Amino acid sequence: MSKLRFNVVEQAFHKKPVEVVSPEKRPSEYFGKYVFNREKMFKYLPSKVYAKLVDVIDNGANLDRSIADEVAKGMKKWAMELGVTHYTHWFQPLTEGTAEKHDAFVEHDGKGGMLEEFSGKLLVQQEADGSSFPNGGVRNTFEARGYSAWDPSSPVFVVDDTLCIPTIFIAYTGESLDYKAPLLKALRAVNKAAVDVCHYFNTDVKKVVAYLGWEQEYFLVDEGLYAARPDLLLTGRTLMGHEASKNQQLEDHYFGAIPPRVAAFMKDLEIQALELGIPVKTRHNEVAPNQFELAPIYEECNLAVDHNMLIMSLMRKIARNHGFRVLLHEKPFKGINGSGKHNNWSLGTDTGILLMAPGKTSEENLRFITFVVNTLMAVYRHNGLLKASIMSATNAHRLGAHEAPPAIISSFLGTQLSKVLDHMEDSSTNELASLGSKQSMRLDIPQIPELLIDNTDRNRTSPFAFTGNRFEFRAVGSEANCASAMIALNTAVAEQLTLFKKEVDTLIEQGEPKISALIHVIRKYIKACKPIRFDGNGYSEEWQQEAARRGLDCETSCPVIFDNYLKPETIQMFESTNVMNRKELKARNEVKWDTYTKKIQIEARVLGDLVMNHIVPVAIEYQSKLVDNVYKMKSIFPEEEAKKLSAENVAIIKRIAEHTAFIKEKVDAMVEARKVANKITEEREKAIAYHDNIEPMLEEIRYHIDKLELIVDDQMWTLPKYRELLFIR
Ligand code: ADP
Ligand code: MG
Repeated sequence: MSKLRFNVVEQAFHKKPVEVVSPEKRPSEYFGKYVFNREKMFKYLPSKVYAKLVDVIDNGANLDRSIADEVAKGMKKWAMELGVTHYTHWFQPLTEGTAEKHDAFVEHDGKGGMLEEFSGKLLVQQEADGSSFPNGGVRNTFEARGYSAWDPSSPVFVVDDTLCIPTIFIAYTGESLDYKAPLLKALRAVNKAAVDVCHYFNTDVKKVVAYLGWEQEYFLVDEGLYAARPDLLLTGRTLMGHEASKNQQLEDHYFGAIPPRVAAFMKDLEIQALELGIPVKTRHNEVAPNQFELAPIYEECNLAVDHNMLIMSLMRKIARNHGFRVLLHEKPFKGINGSGKHNNWSLGTDTGILLMAPGKTSEENLRFITFVVNTLMAVYRHNGLLKASIMSATNAHRLGAHEAPPAIISSFLGTQLSKVLDHMEDSSTNELASLGSKQSMRLDIPQIPELLIDNTDRNRTSPFAFTGNRFEFRAVGSEANCASAMIALNTAVAEQLTLFKKEVDTLIEQGEPKISALIHVIRKYIKACKPIRFDGNGYSEEWQQEAARRGLDCETSCPVIFDNYLKPETIQMFESTNVMNRKELKARNEVKWDTYTKKIQIEARVLGDLVMNHIVPVAIEYQSKLVDNVYKMKSIFPEEEAKKLSAENVAIIKRIAEHTAFIKEKVDAMVEARKVANKITEEREKAIAYHDNIEPMLEEIRYHIDKLELIVDDQMWTLPKYRELLFIR
C-alpha cells in the first residue's frame, strides 16, 4: 500500500462512532421543534390572522398582503427566540440542489442604530438576481430579474441561525425557473381533475391530495478515503477501480446489522430530521456494501419533495460530523448496485379515502379501478415523458443495468389486480349496461369482486409497480429532485382524468346510466393501455424486443430521451393543464442538455488528469522496477537462465506498456473529441455528441486502468481501492 493510502485506510479503520446525545424527550415531543407549524402559528399569530393563513394553506385561498406583515411579525418573534439572526428564501433551481441567499434581520433604525426587521413584503416576495442559475435562455443576464415568492403550503423552518422560507422561483416575465412552481401547478391540476371524477362516487369530496413517500438510498464512505479519490470528490462517482473480490455476492449486507459508526450517523440524522418535521421512519442496510436506505412516512407531495431536498442537505452535513461523506450519486461504484429513490405515489381525498386502495363495497372498488386504470392510461400515453422525467447523466448508469428498473417504462400490477382488469375487459357490454340501468350505485357489480390485494406480490424489476394502495415509481434516481418525476406523473394523471370525465359525461348525456358509462370507458381504457402492463422480468432480452413491438419508448440515449418533453402530445398535456407552456418546456430542455454535457465533460477532464498524474506515472514507475530487475537478473544468471526466470516480468512489462499506450492514445483522442463537441452551438447536438463520442471513451479507458490496478504493485498504488472504500467502517 502506498504511504498515503495506508494512512487513510489505517485512520478509517480505527475511527470510533461519534457519540450522539439523545434528546431527553421522546420524538413526539421534539418533532417539528424547528418548524413554524400550526401549533406555533396558533401561538404566535393573532387568531384572525391564524384563521386566514390556515385557509390559504388548506384551501389555496389567496394570500392577503395585509396579513403578511402580521405573519412575518409572528415568525420573526418565534425565530428570534431560537436565536435566529438571518432569513432566506429557500428555493429549488434547475440544478439538483437547493439555493439560498441569507439576509440578516437588521435595518437602520433612522437614529444611527440598527433594529431587527422582517416585514411581510420580505416574507412574501423577493427579487433575486438569479442570473447564474440555469434558465435555458429564459432570461438574458442583462435582464436577470427573477422573483422568489413564498409557498405557504410548505412551512417555514429554522436551520442553524437562519429562518428558511420555501419559495418558488420565477422569471420577471412569469416563466418558472425552478421545480416547485410547476409542481404546485401540477398538484392543482390533479386535484381539480380527480375531484371531478370522485364526484361520480362521492359528491362530498372537495379536495384530492397527491401523496409521496420517497425511499432515499445512499452510500457512505469514510471521509479520508473519499478525499484521496479525486474522482469521487469532483464527480460523485468512481471513474476507475477494479471490483473487490468480495462485494455483494453473498447478499450479507442487505438488512444486516448496521455498523456502529453508521448507526450513530443515522441516529443523529433522524433526530435532526424529526426536529425539522420530517417524519423519518425506516432505516436499513441496502444490497450493496456501505449502501443504506432511509424512508419517512408519506406526506402531501409538495411537502414531501421539500423534505427530501432538506434531508439530502442534512445528510451531507451530518455525514461530515461523523467522518463520512454521503454519496447520493446513482452509481458511485461499478459492478455493485446503484442508488435509487423509489417514489411511492397515491391520491387521497379530504374525506379520508385513499383512491389507489381497494375498498369493501363494489362501488368503492369501481372507484378504485377507475383511478388505477386512469393512472395506467396516463403512464401508457406518456411513458416516454415519464422516462425523460427521471433521466439524467448520472441515473443513466443505473437504468438498464441488471439491478434497477430497465430503461423502458412498464407497470406491474400483480396477479390479483391483473385478473380483475382482465375480467372486466372480457365481460359483455350488454350485461354491464343492463346492470347499470336497473340499479343505482348500491348495486353489486359482479365484474368487480371483493379485492384483497396481496402486498407481497412484488416484482423488483418493474419501474412502475402497484403495491397495494399506491404506485411505486422506482426509476427515480437517488440524487434527483423528486419534483421532476412528480410534475410529469401528476400532470399526466390530471390530463387523463379530465379526458376520462369528458368521455363518461358524453355517454351519460346520450342516456347511458352512470355506472354503465363508467364501466364502458374503463373497459375501453383497459384494452387501450394493455401494452404498458408487464409482469415479467424487465431485465430480460425478450422484454426489450417485446416492448419495442408494443410501441413503448425504448430509447436509451439520455439526451435523445429528453426530446420527449417537446413532443406535441407532451406540450398539449402541459399546456391544457396550465402546468407549463412551450417556452418553459423548451428552456428547461436547454438546461437539461447543457447539464448533461457539463457532467460528461467534467468526468472526461477528471479522468484525463487522473490518468496522466496518477495512473500512468505509477504504472511506469513499477514497470521501471521490473525492467531494472530483468537487467540485474542478467548480471547474476547465465543469459539463458536469466531469460527464463525473467519471462514473467518481461510479459508484465509488455502488458503495462500496452495498457499505458492505449490509455494515452485514448485520452488524447478524448481531448480531440471534446474540442469538436465544444464547437457545436446547439445544446441538444452538443449533448448528443458527448453521449455518442465521449462517454464511451470513459469506459474504454477505465477498462485499461482497472487492468493496471491488478498488475501494479499494491504498495505503489496511490488511490484507495474498492475493497477499502467499501468495507471499512
Ligand atoms: P418498501 O418495502 O417498498 O421498501 P418502505 O417502507 O421502505 O417500503 O417505504 C414505503 C414508502 O411508501 C414509505 O415512505 C411509506 O410511507 C410510503 N407509502 C405507504 N403508503 C403510501 C400511500 N398510500 N401513498 C404514498 N406513499 C405511501
Ligand atoms: Mg424500502
